Amino acid sequence: MRRVLLVLVVAGLVLAFAWALAGLPGRVTADIGSISFEAATPVAALGLLLAFVLLYAVFRLLGAAIRLPRTLRNRQAVRRRRAGDIAVTRTLLALAAGEKGDARREAGRARRMLGDTPQTLLLAAEAGRIAGRDDEATASFRALASRDDAAFLGLRGLLRQAVERGDWTEAAALARQAEAVQPGAAWLRRERARLAVRAGNWSDALALADADAPKAALATAAAEVETDPARALRLAKQAWQDDPSLAPAALAYATRLRADGRDSRAQAAIRHSWSIAPHPDLAVFSMAPAEVGLSAMQAAQRLTEANPEHVESRLLLSRTALAAGLTGEARRHAEAARLAGVNQRRLWLLLAEIEEAEGGDTEAGRLAQRDALRHAATADPDPQWRCNACHTAHGSWHPTCPDCFTVGSLRWNTQPTAPSVVQQIQPTATLLP
Ligand SMILES: [Zn+2]
Repeated sequence: MRRVLLVLVVAGLVLAFAWALAGLPGRVTADIGSISFEAATPVAALGLLLAFVLLYAVFRLLGAAIRLPRTLRNRQAVRRRRAGDIAVTRTLLALAAGEKGDARREAGRARRMLGDTPQTLLLAAEAGRIAGRDDEATASFRALASRDDAAFLGLRGLLRQAVERGDWTEAAALARQAEAVQPGAAWLRRERARLAVRAGNWSDALALADADAPKAALATAAAEVETDPARALRLAKQAWQDDPSLAPAALAYATRLRADGRDSRAQAAIRHSWSIAPHPDLAVFSMAPAEVGLSAMQAAQRLTEANPEHVESRLLLSRTALAAGLTGEARRHAEAARLAGVNQRRLWLLLAEIEEAEGGDTEAGRLAQRDALRHAATADPDPQWRCNACHTAHGSWHPTCPDCFTVGSLRWNTQPTAPSVVQQIQPTATLLP
């Protein structure tokens, strides 16, 4: 309706203009050289109008002809841009679907259409990476790393490749370059901490560790390799204060205190750790300077007085009593542990020793000893260092699990780990035809 009204208005205006033009009085005469021209005023006005329109059309055509190459170039660029955008989308879809061949082909097309932009280089690198073409991925990451606007992306990719290869020296150098390009990036800090752990640079790992990191394990490891005694003592103290229940941390601290001539402080640290989480190695350290016999028993009583009911306390008191020839006292502590529900192999072996010491070569003594040994054969395993993450048992403590490389995951564990579902199924599966 609005368009109809507009057409009517325009038609009315044109009619009015034509009417006014036709109504112009007089004639127009022009002489150009020998040519004379005479016409009625409306005709001359119409001619002028037509000449103007013609001239305008000629100028427009000339302009279009001059701009033609540029217009063609622009149209081609738009077509390439559109095709490049489609190739980028297809690359992303292929990467998400894990279609390696398609991802590489579309990433190559995107680069041809759009040139080497940070986006196309990153897509080409990722496509090469998932296709196992490390050479292609490396070339694209290097091209990214050489750009001012996307160097961090390239260095990050090269760093990931170095980590996958296990080339820790190269990875550390790349991490330093990435830090220079983008200081303080959270991801980079975590990656540098991980590299420091893998390279065994415990001080660096400790310095880069975030708030949730197991700092006691890192500080203990750092103290072990530190050559400066004062610094080693500081690190060991930090480890012990951070987690006094970690026996290696307590031992690292106490060992350095003892080396510094501060044995009473060392014993106090060990006693504090024993009150929280007793460990046989703490007893070995604490008892080392003591004499055998009664003085050893006194040392054991001092160590265990804050936590006398714990199985480690009971076993230590029983063993020292047995060594001092006090078999009644040794039996009292061992039986107390047994009545508290402890069914570990070491307890039954200790009871067998007590029976041997008490019964000697008598028939009753031999019977009681055999009974204790029979219990030992079917008892629960003794506590050991076990990884919280992969549940692997280890003969000694390590700052990282040697199997799964989790930091600070080894804990002194008395509970045997339930076998995994796979382990439970495998023996049955082998019996099937
Ligand atoms: Zn592990």
